[in-house]
Amino acid sequence: MVQCHLQVIGSGKGETGFSIILFFDDHRYLFDCGEGTQRLCAEKGLNLFRVDTIFFTRLDACSAGGLFGTLLTLADAGKTRLDLFGPAGLSSFFSASNCFYRRPLLELNLKEVGTDEVVQSLYQDANIEVDAVSLSCEDWPRERDYTNSQQKKPRMNTKKAVVSYIVTMKDIPGKFDPVAATALKVPKGPLFGKLSRGETVTLPDGRVILPSQVVSEPFPGPCIAIICCPSIHYISSVTSTSRLSRFALRNVKDSDGKERHLCMVHMATHAVLKDKRYIEWAISLGEEVYHFLLTRDSLDAPLIFEAQAELLKLLSSSVDEKLFQIPKDISNWKEADRKALDELQRDIMERWSKVKGVMFGDSLLKYHLAPRNRIGVDPSAMTRKLQVDMFSECDGESKEGPLSIDFKTSEGVQSLETSPGCFEDSGELIFLGTGAAIPSKLRNVSGIYLHLYHRGGILLDCGEGTFGQMFRVFGFHELNYVIGHLKLIFISHMHADHHLGILRILEYRLKLDTEQPLIIMGPSELSSWLSSYQQVNDQLFHYVFMDNESFTCPQQPIVDYLSSNIGLQVETVPVLHCFHAYGIVLYDNVFEWKMVYSGDTMPCDALIDAGQGATFVIHEATFESSMDQLALEKGHCTFKQAVEVCKAMKAQWVILTHFSQRYSKLPVIDSLSDNNLFVAFDLLRVPFSSLSRLPSLLPVVCDQFKDEEGNHSCEPNGVVE
Ligand SMILES: [Zn+2]
Ligand SMILES: [Zn+2]
Repeated sequence: MVQCHLQVIGSGKGETGFSIILFFDDHRYLFDCGEGTQRLCAEKGLNLFRVDTIFFTRLDACSAGGLFGTLLTLADAGKTRLDLFGPAGLSSFFSASNCFYRRPLLELNLKEVGTDEVVQSLYQDANIEVDAVSLSCEDWPRERDYTNSQQKKPRMNTKKAVVSYIVTMKDIPGKFDPVAATALKVPKGPLFGKLSRGETVTLPDGRVILPSQVVSEPFPGPCIAIICCPSIHYISSVTSTSRLSRFALRNVKDSDGKERHLCMVHMATHAVLKDKRYIEWAISLGEEVYHFLLTRDSLDAPLIFEAQAELLKLLSSSVDEKLFQIPKDISNWKEADRKALDELQRDIMERWSKVKGVMFGDSLLKYHLAPRNRIGVDPSAMTRKLQVDMFSECDGESKEGPLSIDFKTSEGVQSLETSPGCFEDSGELIFLGTGAAIPSKLRNVSGIYLHLYHRGGILLDCGEGTFGQMFRVFGFHELNYVIGHLKLIFISHMHADHHLGILRILEYRLKLDTEQPLIIMGPSELSSWLSSYQQVNDQLFHYVFMDNESFTCPQQPIVDYLSSNIGLQVETVPVLHCFHAYGIVLYDNVFEWKMVYSGDTMPCDALIDAGQGATFVIHEATFESSMDQLALEKGHCTFKQAVEVCKAMKAQWVILTHFSQRYSKLPVIDSLSDNNLFVAFDLLRVPFSSLSRLPSLLPVVCDQFKDEEGNHSCEPNGVVE
């Protein structure tokens, strides 16, 4: 019996982009692969390996930000072929990424849907047939564009095209009725099988039995429409496209003239879902259509990385509640904001009340499409392990949470108004991702936020999901301030686990419309990748790019520019990892601290020289101490090597990070006796004033991971670095 359902993975809320999986027994089809898709699937035990086909509605971070991370993981797991469909620019998106994405054994078949194109049967197999509709953005010309014309007219911007998909399932065969077959004296066995497969059989007594005598009628396969409408400027394109009309969608009949069930997923914004034209179009499709509403501007994202939240709760209660804080979510919101959110959702639901079935989609929500008697919504997979009262004991004063993202206001918060007087008060380290290569439940890929309070902040590497981790650390009001006041993003090298998250950060900053200058330092390949990405998406990010190479021996104008913009001296150090890999040394003239971040590297003498006398060092320690051969092959450090490097630097404090995901919870630590050492965890917050007490907390942390026999639970989990 055919079983099929649709499941929302990333709902567009909070830290996730969009991703939806269509499940059949033998196939999985993915629609969009936004940031966080891979980590969400790992968290929820969903296997992406069985996805053979991915359809993209757009190529921005929300729809495609998780693509390369997912591809690298699938390729390394032995996947050999994938079909990818998307808007014009898909091929350029790939050619721009060949500086970090090279997996020749994974054959990719790319097919672009041209602008203004409606493609019948873009894809077809035994389960589904997919049509694609390209939709264009209606751009109003700016003042200067129509000074000579009498009328202000919108023009369609074909560069900003997005694609919607219409997925029609093949007809579902009817159900074999063994009682009817027995009544007709069909002997049990192979003849039952033949009849249930739709074959006509001749009985030993010469009678001919038709499948229609023992199998119920087939029913027309449902139709699923994935509509991408990222702003109100796409509405006229949606409503005027005949392939998306009631006639085309609802009246697609099977050979017997029966109408198909239609389920529609809207990837939209609140403004689109409130727009009269859009709602009228949706109503025109017929009241029986089921609608899922997904929005890219919702903030009511529940905690989806539950394992991370549970670990932080444990460490918060048993080690330190300031260093390990529970991630922020709607339970931290003010009552008024929660009420306002309810009102907004109620308002949208009222506007949509003329359709029978409509609901806001959320992560893990399912919609069954076959068998026929199960068609409908299934929220059972959404049940969360975390209880609401998890947060009651840690309710702080800083309850906050805006109704929707107010991009124009970037209110400061109390903690940012601290007036620093000495080194201890001058900054804070926040670890956003502490795992190597691929994200896991407990460790996201690389990212560190250096919080300099009123002086702004610096991101040291920015793997996929960095934005989401910042969202959970800061909550939305503070997040707007923090991202708006980013002064520098340093990318150590072009491995995917260190830079893919920069797109979401830059896109978010664009919406904030901040005047603050942002410097991006990175390998030269990063600059061309960012330029190509902007071209594909017709976006223009605001930043000043500086090549890491120019800081190995910086010229005076560069030094002056950086000092005036970020108030720090910067030096980069070529390290031993891959082509154009750098570590960084930051020196604060005012508060006189020196910080070293290694990026990915083997033990590196140049870094030791540059980092002499560092106040604190963040160093990678990918493998356990006995794995020096593997560390050498992969260009990384073992725990022991990292400790030795920091000793040679005469570093005052050391925090190790970038642990192989083979250590599911805690790396293998063999230097508990060092009195200046700590290991990083995701969302660990270290105000400089707490650096000195970290080493004494390390044994307490380790105790939390001991099993009943007193061993540390750090069993290998079979991942590849
Ligand atoms: Zn790495
Ligand atoms: Zn690397």
